Amino acid sequence: MSTIFSQIVAGEVPADIVYRDEYVTCFKDINPVAPVHILIIPNKEIATVNDLTEVDQMLAGHMVLTAARLAAELRIDESGYRLVMNCNQEGGQIVYHLHMHLIGGRQMGSISGGK
Ligand code: 5GP
Repeated sequence: MSTIFSQIVAGEVPADIVYRDEYVTCFKDINPVAPVHILIIPNKEIATVNDLTEVDQMLAGHMVLTAARLAAELRIDESGYRLVMNCNQEGGQIVYHLHMHLIGGRQMGSISGGK
């Protein structure tokens, strides 16, 4: 089923897009938890990490490399950042269009106690 993120990819819903290419669209999270909070999403509809298949290996790698390049452009690559992909309910996934959070610009807490 189509989500708000598919509508952003299609240009039907506005977003603060920072990068896009044939495979991914990257835009600022509407409710940022840090000075840098960008969502990297595939242009094609994939609901969750569980729905990735062999044919998506290049796409999944491209999402990571795109996040790293954006981090470098935003000059948080040396200080550090966090990449997060939430999967399904207990993983905290709200939007069922695959996405990777690029979060940085402040000190992160430990994964067991921080945000
Ligand atoms: P999830 O919990 O599914 O991993 O994260 C979904 C993220 O999408 C949340 O951080 C939320 O703030 C963000 N989000 C939800 N709807 C929109 C929207 O319409 N525009 C933008 N830019 N971000 C959104």
